[in-house]
Amino acid sequence: MSELSLAYIFHQQQLLVDEHLQLPKVERLASDLHLHTGNTVIARDLQAHENIPSGLQLVPIRQLLTQWTTKQFEQASRAMQLLEWRRNHKFCSHCGHETQVHATEYAMICPACHYHQYPRVQPCVITVITRGEDEILLAKNAKNTNNMYGLIAGFVEVGETLEDAVRRETEEEVGVKLKNIQYLASQPWPFPSNLMIAFRAEYAAGDIELQQEEISDAQFFKFDQLPQIPFKGSIAHAMIMHVTQGHPVADDTHLWL
Ligand SMILES: [Zn+2]
Repeated sequence: MSELSLAYIFHQQQLLVDEHLQLPKVERLASDLHLHTGNTVIARDLQAHENIPSGLQLVPIRQLLTQWTTKQFEQASRAMQLLEWRRNHKFCSHCGHETQVHATEYAMICPACHYHQYPRVQPCVITVITRGEDEILLAKNAKNTNNMYGLIAGFVEVGETLEDAVRRETEEEVGVKLKNIQYLASQPWPFPSNLMIAFRAEYAAGDIELQQEEISDAQFFKFDQLPQIPFKGSIAHAMIMHVTQGHPVADDTHLWL
């Protein structure tokens, strides 16, 4: 019998786990993606014809975020992003030839023109904004069907610094100017391949003016009168707890989610 490996087996944004939310052990296939983790851990997509083995279940990744440690979630997130990247780079983006998987690196290589395609992350800034000693700016996303108020976030554009992106997103979405922008922490976020980069900043000037397509409401809330906020396990939750309750948002090794 061949050696078994721990496996991340995905089906869309769900992962196959046992009743204790642990990874199954499976026989390796030639097409598996190998994660460089010391022990052999592989990742693959559930094949279309495959049934879900008994004792295992598909669980949404987002649900695991609240059940797993940060480290476990980050490895799952990495597996998911690498698979997604491999799936989306089957052809060379330079000449269009079919690519091959690099033997030792995370790279898709083109046998015709030798162009190498590496996994990319999308930097995304997220900012917790305070005013005075006891107020926080929270905004409701226009697409939200619930009543949750979150933080201002958006993608970094080409040529921008991270601080530029923080200022631009805030001005665009709620119309206010910021000062004292400070880095807090970061979190890989695999929906689909973002790196969330967290900042705190202070309100400097301006009245709240909503960008209607993005934001349906935004207000300064007193720290002790918060509305419904993002779920525990998200970086937004950790950031809000950090400014309102003084919880640490991260130490040298991991986020405090
Ligand atoms: Zn090529």
